[in-house]
Amino acid sequence: MIYVTKSSLPEFDEYAAEIRDIWESHRLTNMGPKYELLREKLGALLSAEQFELVSNGHMAIELALQALELEGEVITTPFTFASTTHAIVHCGLTPVFCDIDPADCTMDADKIEQLITPETAAILPVHVYGRICNIERIAQIAEKHHLKVIYDAAHAVGETYKGKGPGAYGDLSTFSFHATKVFSTCEGGGVSCSSAKIKERLYTLQNFGINMNAEVVDIGLNSKMSELHAAMGLCNLRHLGEMIEARKKRVELYQENLKDCPGIEMLQEQEHVVSNYAYFPIFVHKEEIGMDRDQVCALLYEKGFFARKYFYPLTSEFPCYQGKFPIQETPVAHERSVQVMTLPLYPDLEEENIMEICRILRSLGK
Ligand SMILES: *Cc1c(COP(=O)(O)O)cnc(C)c1O
Repeated sequence: MIYVTKSSLPEFDEYAAEIRDIWESHRLTNMGPKYELLREKLGALLSAEQFELVSNGHMAIELALQALELEGEVITTPFTFASTTHAIVHCGLTPVFCDIDPADCTMDADKIEQLITPETAAILPVHVYGRICNIERIAQIAEKHHLKVIYDAAHAVGETYKGKGPGAYGDLSTFSFHATKVFSTCEGGGVSCSSAKIKERLYTLQNFGINMNAEVVDIGLNSKMSELHAAMGLCNLRHLGEMIEARKKRVELYQENLKDCPGIEMLQEQEHVVSNYAYFPIFVHKEEIGMDRDQVCALLYEKGFFARKYFYPLTSEFPCYQGKFPIQETPVAHERSVQVMTLPLYPDLEEENIMEICRILRSLGK
């Protein structure tokens, strides 16, 4: 069975060498030297002025919301992983769902202003599949209405937009280093920001509210990254360039073999973006091939390929949110969620498997 992804690991000996000094120092966690080194290196890669490492990408979003001390409504996208919406709700805020642009599946910036109310505190878009949001337009709207912007940049590690990493944009950006992401620390996450004061709050909040002077100044929690996780990150970071290059080759092979494939739509490349090739989503057009997305997924599964319905359903359609708050209509997001599937993609995915998947897709409706 070929799965949709496979976690990248360094050579065992490389990791063993990286953790040797942890065995000597017995320094396992609490912002140790591995954490500090990874924080510096990743912050630079992401073009973050300020950067904090945390235990995972979900906590990165919750901590970002807490650090800004927001109240009220947050305009966000329903076309995302559960985490984005859950984080907003866990923080006592109300998600307000904005529709997406079908061309790249990110928040449709032209539909934001009509959702702004006196309760609106922030905009929380997602660089979904590593597609960069309409950063300039969102910044303009936020400035005009005095709103904060937090990007869920979980998918965007290793990318640049106009020559800068995603950590340079928004008031804060949050990152995931989960095992299934392009860059992994097994479990891990980070938050970038430009304000030193916010960075200090993030540090304090993830450490029980204890600040650098050992005073408890915030009602914090525990979301620290351990030294073993940071060591995994230091190893994987050395290979990130090669990994993205290998993904790129595979994406290009898909693109070459699926162009002009009836019923299968791919997303276009974005201007000014150097991609990390995190995912390879396709959209199934039933009217052209007489098969819907679920049927195409099932057919691939029969042949040993596990594609994922990512993102389906919309987070606003989850059973846990029924009746919880008014849910805005987002017809474009709904349609995309019914068409979409992501195909297997990882750095050592065999070329032959990609060719076979493309052969199957090209034979649909014939
Ligand atoms: C993976 C992911 C998260 C959560 O990250 P974890 O590290 O798994 O907690 C949040 N948002 C999006 C869009 C994600 O894909």
